[in-house]
Amino acid sequence: MTKSLDANTKKQLAARVDYYREMGIYDFYRREGGPEVPNETLAAKESPSDVAPMRAAGGGRSLFDSPLPVIQDKPAALKLIREDIGDCTRCRLHKGRNKLVFGVGNVNADLMFIGEGPGADEDAQGEPFVGRAGQLLNNMISAMGIKREDVYIANVVKCRPPGNRTPEKDECDTCSPFLMRQIDVIRPKVIVALGAVAAKNLLAVNDSMANLRGRWYEFKNSKLLVTYHPAYLLRDPRQKKEAWKDLQMAMKELGLKPPAKASTE
Ligand code: SF4
Repeated sequence: MTKSLDANTKKQLAARVDYYREMGIYDFYRREGGPEVPNETLAAKESPSDVAPMRAAGGGRSLFDSPLPVIQDKPAALKLIREDIGDCTRCRLHKGRNKLVFGVGNVNADLMFIGEGPGADEDAQGEPFVGRAGQLLNNMISAMGIKREDVYIANVVKCRPPGNRTPEKDECDTCSPFLMRQIDVIRPKVIVALGAVAAKNLLAVNDSMANLRGRWYEFKNSKLLVTYHPAYLLRDPRQKKEAWKDLQMAMKELGLKPPAKASTE
């Protein structure tokens, strides 16, 4: 006789399935003749990712006891996300786009920087933070004692807003699920949100930079802090000292030591 799942189990199962879908895993199968909840592995069929198996109720532990699986084949998972984005026309920002800016960097990065959206240089090159603001970000990263290649860099929206305007909420809402999937794959220890737009979209709050900065937020499996966008620091270099304080918080968390002559100039 078919035993129905209780409401809580159904809710948890739905959340798990949503998680796998966000990872790009859509097909599941169950062993014929097995218990109602499979007691070996709820396997992902033709998954590009090497996902750790989930335990099932039959083994004495709940299906949900185990932590969410860690994606092993990160490049394949990111490639799948990029393929899902495709030649995206999901929001109006596609109209002025030359190149979609997906994200760049070390897939195993402990540190991830998230900005607002591509500017003209990024739109031309298809890579985030490559213009003047990008040069300053590189300097900020060097001041932390690491290299650009050590971190992962992405934006809330992947197409350049016309005239570098701030992306609208609906544009951020449409595009950010892809960023969430990137974060789930990379699983950085620390995320630094660059500027108010990134911070407000990631944290779903509407607050001033003064209130947003200087503290840690729990975000997915990471710790998140907020600092000034490098473009803002170019306009108001006096704030570099404040940004350096934020980066030092990240360094402490990551156990990084600055090189002898650290500078964000
Ligand atoms: Fe698609 Fe994001 Fe570009 Fe909008 S900004 S068109 S959602 S990739």
